[in-house]
Amino acid sequence: MPIRVDLGKGGVMSAYPKPLPVPSVESKPFWDGCKRHELLLPCCGKCGQWWFPPGPTCPNCWSTEWEWKKASGRGKIYSFGVYHRVYHKGFESELPYVLAVVELDEGPRLVSNVIDGGSKSLECDLPVEVVFEDVTEDTTLYKFRRL
Ligand SMILES: [Zn+2]
Repeated sequence: MPIRVDLGKGGVMSAYPKPLPVPSVESKPFWDGCKRHELLLPCCGKCGQWWFPPGPTCPNCWSTEWEWKKASGRGKIYSFGVYHRVYHKGFESELPYVLAVVELDEGPRLVSNVIDGGSKSLECDLPVEVVFEDVTEDTTLYKFRRL
């Protein structure tokens, strides 16, 4: 069980050494999906458009008739960077690590780490799939690994 430290003013710091997402009203279903190891994205019921980040209307046809749907979790690297310096102490033990923009098969682009990849051999358009890491009792992060 993670140790929690109350910082006051509503801030709570977990013993997890890296920054954690703070779900908004709009993104809570996404993070709840991650907890169940499902990648959920808004999908329009009228035109079929997927999008992210979530918003009240479809960005393609402005319909409000949309729902959270489970995405395939597969995509390709759109862009990436390999970090060799410590910008946050929590990442110190993982250098070098990869931060990538992944374009999902459904269209939206997500930003996260590519793990198990060997940063030397990564390139754009490389196929990847989502993986989930339960990092605290309340938070599951999505990351990607090469297929
Ligand atoms: Zn639409």
